Amino acid sequence: MASRETLVAEFMERVAARNTGQDEFLQAVEEVACDVLTIEKANSAYAQAHVFERLTEPDRIIGFRVVWEDDAGQLQINRGWRVQMSNAIGPYKGGLRFHPSVNPSVLKFLAFEQTFKNALTGLPLGGGKGGSDFDPSGRSDREIMRFCQAFMGELAHHIGPDQDVPAGDINVGTREIGYLFGAYKKFAQRFHGALTGKGGSFGGSKMRVEATGYGVLYFTACVLMRRDQQIEGKRIAISGMGNVATHAAEKAISMGATVISLSDSSGVVLAEDGLTSESLEWLRGQKAAGASLDGAPAHLKLDFREGLKPWGLTDAEIAMPCATQNEMNEDDAKNAVESGLKLLVEGANMPLTSGAAQALQDAGVTYAPGKATNAGGVAISGLEMSQNSYRRFLTSEEVDAALKDIMQRIHDTAAAEGRDGDQINYRRGANIAGYRRVADAVCAYGVL
Ligand code: GLU
Repeated sequence: MASRETLVAEFMERVAARNTGQDEFLQAVEEVACDVLTIEKANSAYAQAHVFERLTEPDRIIGFRVVWEDDAGQLQINRGWRVQMSNAIGPYKGGLRFHPSVNPSVLKFLAFEQTFKNALTGLPLGGGKGGSDFDPSGRSDREIMRFCQAFMGELAHHIGPDQDVPAGDINVGTREIGYLFGAYKKFAQRFHGALTGKGGSFGGSKMRVEATGYGVLYFTACVLMRRDQQIEGKRIAISGMGNVATHAAEKAISMGATVISLSDSSGVVLAEDGLTSESLEWLRGQKAAGASLDGAPAHLKLDFREGLKPWGLTDAEIAMPCATQNEMNEDDAKNAVESGLKLLVEGANMPLTSGAAQALQDAGVTYAPGKATNAGGVAISGLEMSQNSYRRFLTSEEVDAALKDIMQRIHDTAAAEGRDGDQINYRRGANIAGYRRVADAVCAYGVL
């Protein structure tokens, strides 16, 4: 059999030729290809079905124009997309992102990752992702509403509880899902679970907002437990200031960790002695008001460093990049290693450049990939879908218990597939476990 390197190089040459210039997508595919191509080659059913190559071609990509009017009465034109990657094991499922960096490459990488992540949850969820190049910063509430309504005017034709179930992602939270669901309900003339992340009064699940960040900590606890360690007393550097980062920080604080940072595109806020519930609340308030993260009252002991990232600024055994793709480069990773990094747990989707991932591997840092660690969000979306179908709702305690259970199962599955002597390669384990589940379904359907 050809070596793994040859298999990957030949495969990537074909995929690159079909996806010129789609760097994020190619990066995501190569990272999975390194782990699954040898598995595929060794299994004649998978190999004959060319499963992995098929999974790199979306079932379809829907692209559309979004025209809306701003508060000044000016016409604005944006682009919208939905990448329906694979519905092999369930309806397409994945978030919507509103950000100027959104383009087909970014959405294809996210939908590809989502397919494996959703398979790992053990729930019947296919993979998809969508969004727009719309920049909501500085926009009024009415402008956000009009944009969401215009966006849904087109997307409504392509989604539904058995077809495709979008949710939130960067810049799409409870408010945006409210506007999007309201518009869907009006255009489709249906009230059913076509979106998740909804408000509690119209079908949302308890704990959906917290689930991604809390799940990251539950997964981290499983990794540490294997080594007879616990989160309490650990110093954790977190990047980001969105839903994932702030809920990860909140849970880490409640578990007794010292959270030494949060950040946004303006810079990093350091808390040498650890964030407290009070300092976290202050930061959330500033962020919600669109105000500077600088100038905290002295007693909160926050130190804002403009333009910097948290990595390596102060010693931390655990790093949790929770902002966005490729936020940590090779130098950042080396800085973090010099400051004592032992474990990196991804909160965002693909936050490491390939160089950063390699630097961590060379330094022997344990690496827990986002498709396993941040799967708690979409898992609770899966439970929201069940609650909507069943028309019965779970309590916060029930959802939290289910989340812990799912994160433990994802951890154990990835650990079993990724065992390498007495070490665990979580990346390999997660990629292979996700792949197998989708591949078995793809093979069962025959050639179509
Ligand atoms: N956007 C989230 C993710 O990256 C959640 C998707 C969902 O709940 O459908 O997994």
